[in-house]
Amino acid sequence: MRSSTSPADRFVTVGVPVPGLALLTYRAPAGGSPPKGARVRVPVGPRSYIGCLVDPDAPAPPSGTRVKDLTDVVDREPFVPPAIVDLALWVAEYYAAGPGDALALALPPAARGGRANAFRTEGLVTLTSGAALEHPAIRGPKQRDALAQLATAGGRMRMAELRAVGISAETVRTLVRAELVERTERVVERDPLAEPTGGWTVEPAHAPVGALTDQQSAALAHLGPAAAAQSFRAVLLHGVTGSGKTEVYLRLADEVVASGRRVLVLVPEIALTPAAVGRFRARFGSRVAIQHSGLASGERHDQWHRIRRGEVDVVVGTRSAVFAPLEHLGLIVVDEEHDSSYKQDEAPRYSGRDVAVMRGRTEQALVVLGSATPSLESAANAEAGRYDLVTLPTRVLDRPLAEVRIVDMRQEYATAGADVTFSSALLQAIGARLARREQTVVLLNRRGFATAVFCRQCGSTMECPHCSVGLTFHRAVQRVRCHYCNYSVPVPRACPACGGEFLEQSGFGTERLEADLRATFPAARVARVDRDTVRRRGAVVEVVEAVARGEIDILVGTQMIAKGHDFPAVTLVGVVSADVGLGLADFRAAERTFQLVTQVVGRAGRGTTAGEAIVQSLYPDHYSIRAAAAQDYRAFFDREMDYRRKLQYPPVVGLVNVIVKHRSLERAMADAGDLADRVRRGSRGIRVMGPAPAALARVRDEFRAQIFLKSGQRSVMRDALRRALSARPDLRRRTIVDVDPLSVL
Ligand code: ADP
Ligand code: ZN
Repeated sequence: MRSSTSPADRFVTVGVPVPGLALLTYRAPAGGSPPKGARVRVPVGPRSYIGCLVDPDAPAPPSGTRVKDLTDVVDREPFVPPAIVDLALWVAEYYAAGPGDALALALPPAARGGRANAFRTEGLVTLTSGAALEHPAIRGPKQRDALAQLATAGGRMRMAELRAVGISAETVRTLVRAELVERTERVVERDPLAEPTGGWTVEPAHAPVGALTDQQSAALAHLGPAAAAQSFRAVLLHGVTGSGKTEVYLRLADEVVASGRRVLVLVPEIALTPAAVGRFRARFGSRVAIQHSGLASGERHDQWHRIRRGEVDVVVGTRSAVFAPLEHLGLIVVDEEHDSSYKQDEAPRYSGRDVAVMRGRTEQALVVLGSATPSLESAANAEAGRYDLVTLPTRVLDRPLAEVRIVDMRQEYATAGADVTFSSALLQAIGARLARREQTVVLLNRRGFATAVFCRQCGSTMECPHCSVGLTFHRAVQRVRCHYCNYSVPVPRACPACGGEFLEQSGFGTERLEADLRATFPAARVARVDRDTVRRRGAVVEVVEAVARGEIDILVGTQMIAKGHDFPAVTLVGVVSADVGLGLADFRAAERTFQLVTQVVGRAGRGTTAGEAIVQSLYPDHYSIRAAAAQDYRAFFDREMDYRRKLQYPPVVGLVNVIVKHRSLERAMADAGDLADRVRRGSRGIRVMGPAPAALARVRDEFRAQIFLKSGQRSVMRDALRRALSARPDLRRRTIVDVDPLSVL
């Protein structure tokens, strides 16, 4: 197996799904190498892996290097399309991750584990022509019975059906040996949309949309030719909530499919936007596949292969679907492009949106980024002319945007006490909706009942023993819980620090809001959606459907409810503590607050009745709150870009966030300091800040020391980091490198 190289040898490189591993070189098989994108089995240390062939004709390693042979060739054809192999390698390079991690994203789940064939098959039993009940080979009544059953069923039955009528596999085997029946296997597709048990239903169908509005037509008049040009173009489609963006995507997709090319649609979280899937299914029928991590791996596998075989025209999926093996791609839509779920929070820390743009570039496709609240990155790209800008400034059918009122909670506390959750204005408005049988949505981006538990005697708050954060009280389960590591204990009777018996709670989350609403409006039907209530697959969809059917009066929830849903009967949106995020020391805090408030306010009044929104805030004058209330994107953008320019934050510069973890804070700080020094010494044009303890200084018993790199050129930062880390290989496993981070907490 292991031997030095000889001049006659040929070599290949292979990406193996092992974190952080570089591409590995192997000797090509004597019969020639399989092509790029084929799966191969390779030895890595003592283990064996399925990897993806990257370069079928790789340069020879330095002479004298020991090179192993491939163990096995799984495919003779590319399994992953070569363009997707290149895309994955770009991701690995750009996001400073291992190529194997990135290539793993391009494989369906079953292929990753090394199972070459994960299709679900069913056995079919067919009578052969010579089969007659009088045949001498028939010995027993069971066999006779089996043949009779088959004859009545027209000569062919599924094995499962035979079993259901009491015929065993053994009986069938006997008949097969006697050549009276044949057994064949047929591949069955697991279709997540066809199986009602899969947790995949779609929202009730929308009334069919008639003619496009003038704005939609104008948008399509720009986008249609851009798609037909069959060359790369990125377009920001900035359309206010309810302006009919989805309809534009559908018509555009129609045109692209009619021209023989394919369409990829990315949505932030499919479980939260089944409507999008439903509308594409309604338009394109079975030629739509869906791809997202909520699918069972078998379903995902089957969908992947349908795409790979070219059986679908449209793929709708979440972040990782950007690697879907579609060929002849003409259009990529990234809906709600600003959404933070496009960024993966483990290696490779890629942005599905940015990878989509890269994919469009290499495959000469049109990329449409849609949002009511574009990310500053995309808006700045449009401003600089790198992206085209298409706007839908008003809602369809002249439906007005919701009327927004800001309530100053400082005044509310002064008059009603510091413990109020709902302002009197919001309570009144909810009461009026209940009387008119209209629906209300209440948003608070914080779950749990109380956000802090503290002792009145010694003043200490209960902290997580493993993380540097306070514990949240969850009343339903009577426990306090850490939202970072999930540590939880029953609420103690006495203070763990001093033994005092007067534990108090302060701060509140969605669980408390639900309880307050039930107490104030006992007759109202209240539902809550947050990570505590929707642990089960399909649970969100159930609540969303109940709201759509009018079975819920008040829906309370975290940002999960702010996304994409279209509830025509919701006429009031309450935003409680709109400024939860503003207290965080994060450069995107204002952007996130603006997006969240604008999006949730956009849920109000999407039907025929005008909507109203009430926004409770402790900083009613903050520009993110004011601009969101006025639904004034431009005002927010100008103000926020000013701030990013002054403090040199993205999109004005490139940012890399580096976190070094260790059980000792001193070690974490010293190691991060060493990396910082190496980067400083190794390269010009990079600003290096830190080390400093991260805002979240400890998580799961590990301290976190942080450094930031800023530069106009990401490649310079990556190269400098790569050099620093190769000088300190011991740090690699406890260092997080986040290129273009969404948050620096
Ligand atoms: P967005 O994605 O921009 O928030 P949607 O595409 O969900 O908006 O459209 C909002 C609502 O308006 C949906 O119920 C949709 O069916 C409807 N709609 C879209 N376009 C039209 C149109 N041209 N005429 C009538 N209704 C439309
Ligand atoms: Zn914890």
